[in-house]
Amino acid sequence: MFAGLMRQRWIRWDQFSTLAKPLRARLQAEVDLSWPAIIQSQGSSDGSTKHIFEMGDGRQIEGVHMPYDDRVTLCLSSQVGCAMGCTFCATGQMGIIRNLSSAEIVGQVVAMLNHHAHPLDRPVNLVFMGMGEPLHNFDHLMAAFEVLTDAEGLAIPPRRITVSTSGLVAGIQRMGSLARRPRLALSLNGTTDEHRSRIMPVNRVWGLEALAEALGRFPLQSGERITLEYVMLKGVTDSLEDARRLAAFARRFPSKVNLIPFNAHEGSGYEPPEESRIVAFCRCLSEAGLPVSVRRSRGQDVGGACGQLVREGQSRHPKIP
Ligand code: SF4
Repeated sequence: MFAGLMRQRWIRWDQFSTLAKPLRARLQAEVDLSWPAIIQSQGSSDGSTKHIFEMGDGRQIEGVHMPYDDRVTLCLSSQVGCAMGCTFCATGQMGIIRNLSSAEIVGQVVAMLNHHAHPLDRPVNLVFMGMGEPLHNFDHLMAAFEVLTDAEGLAIPPRRITVSTSGLVAGIQRMGSLARRPRLALSLNGTTDEHRSRIMPVNRVWGLEALAEALGRFPLQSGERITLEYVMLKGVTDSLEDARRLAAFARRFPSKVNLIPFNAHEGSGYEPPEESRIVAFCRCLSEAGLPVSVRRSRGQDVGGACGQLVREGQSRHPKIP
């Protein structure tokens, strides 16, 4: 089925022969399986490619294809725009336009693999870190997860799929209750409620203590860790006090930390941290015994940070209040 899906832009539920006929008929009537089409691609000097997709209604989203020696990682969108309003994020400034359907989520994967003539035996990692808050689109996300992981679908192992949330505690709890689920990442980005609420409005509803408790109760498999993503903003979130508070937060559950030096974009009002700050911050976390890595945003020279290219193209579309 995987090879078949790879060659097609349009598929029908009739093709899922393992599903009962009445279910297939109902899905065909109710669930749109049209693929998003790649309308623009920009390669970066680091080997990654940023793709703009257009969907049936003309809305646009973005995805990034990032090849590594031993795998390919695809960064995926879950919504057109985003309701969360994080102040450092270009997508957050768009507001929410709509959720993606499960077919549109799966379609990004198939379209990118197809576009890059992906060898079927090469591992694929999926990260929901593009446009949107994935747990705001929970049902479609999990329906897509089933297709992406099913042996009759794309057969991607669940451990290779990571959902990154801005901190929707209700969604984290819901995901934790599932028998089969993706891995969890939290976009933390602040180490005090005051600071985090300023850059991530969701923190006014679910503060750091509520988050730590939810993550502490999240059922992890042996060896599994929750990824904490931390965008370093110069003079805002890059102090050594931040590093120490981040370490204290991260030690409350099995975790690893991904530091992301801010990728500057026009009008954001934020700047990337100094290199010396990144090194000192990283060392502080390592000395606290935490696995830590620094993620340089891939595709920076093509505007690869959250939502930047699409935001320009999308401005002709009205916002949904
Ligand atoms: S960082 Fe993520 S959750 Fe926050 S506004 Fe951007 S897309 Fe939404």
